[in-house]
Amino acid sequence: MPRALIIDGKSIAHRLRLEVAAGVAHLQRARGVVPGLAVVLVGEDPASQVYVRTKMKATRDAGMISLEHKLPAGTPEASLLTLLAELNGRADVHGILVQLPLPSHIDTRRVIEAVDPAKDVDGFHPINIGRLASGACTLAPCTPAGCVILAKSVRSDLTGLEAVVIGRSNIVGKPVAQLLLNENCTVTVAHSRTRDLPSIVRRADLVVAAVGRAEMVRGDWIKPGATVIDVGIQRVPAADGRSRLVGDVAFDEAVDVAGALTPVPGGVGPMTVACLLKNTLRAAWASSQV
Ligand code: NAD
Repeated sequence: MPRALIIDGKSIAHRLRLEVAAGVAHLQRARGVVPGLAVVLVGEDPASQVYVRTKMKATRDAGMISLEHKLPAGTPEASLLTLLAELNGRADVHGILVQLPLPSHIDTRRVIEAVDPAKDVDGFHPINIGRLASGACTLAPCTPAGCVILAKSVRSDLTGLEAVVIGRSNIVGKPVAQLLLNENCTVTVAHSRTRDLPSIVRRADLVVAAVGRAEMVRGDWIKPGATVIDVGIQRVPAADGRSRLVGDVAFDEAVDVAGALTPVPGGVGPMTVACLLKNTLRAAWASSQV
């Protein structure tokens, strides 16, 4: 049995970041505009701090301006909304990202809706979600957009493929399903209440797993030759007493059945940041045209 093609998310993301950097230079030459991304972090969640640092470095590496707003965990919601109103009004800020999760005293939905949709580089604002659902060209959520780029690296035209998305979250599952529908796939969205998940997954030419359950998708769930995009990322104990990162898919089993498969880490993860940069460039171009 031939082993699956391992989809190299790291190098695909690297190429995309180089393309964005070239686009940044072009925008600066053509319009005198340097894209600016404001990242807002509330609190000291260690994982969020790492994500923010990674995003800020990638922003600077692409030639964009990176602005950080670090607020204490106890920041009142009203102060955060005031900051967002200020960033919405700044001409040098083209993208705004509020790192989630927010502390529990803050209403995440209200905060997402307070970001100007034209600067919503996370693609979470209801206007952008609505545009995505209606098939309009928009700022799409970054991880889902990255999944589609990875799937298209295997087969550039996804038309007619039977796609099964496992997970229906607002940040991954649902937008992935919309994007795949826009790519003319026949899409099934499975979730925690789905009956007989293995038999549904077995139908799929393209599987996107976004559940957050370590190695839940077994090799014998995969249709031979299918493309498998693994969004999940979990730390589990390793045999040597340390820990290792795994996805939602049992990689060692799936690699002998799938046609192509993303690794964890090094698959979807790097694409999220690259797509964030792409969205920021896109928002900057759009604002320079008005
Ligand atoms: P979530 O918890 O919001 O949603 C999980 C979804 O899985 C839910 O819709 C639920 O219905 C479904 N689900 C739960 N148990 C199930 C089961 N037994 N069978 C079928 N479906 C089931 O999670 P999320 O935010 O969508 O993230 C999913 C995973 O993707 C997590 O591991 C997260 O860490 C990872 N993630 C990675 C990136 C990245 O950049 N690599 C970005 C976002 C999320």
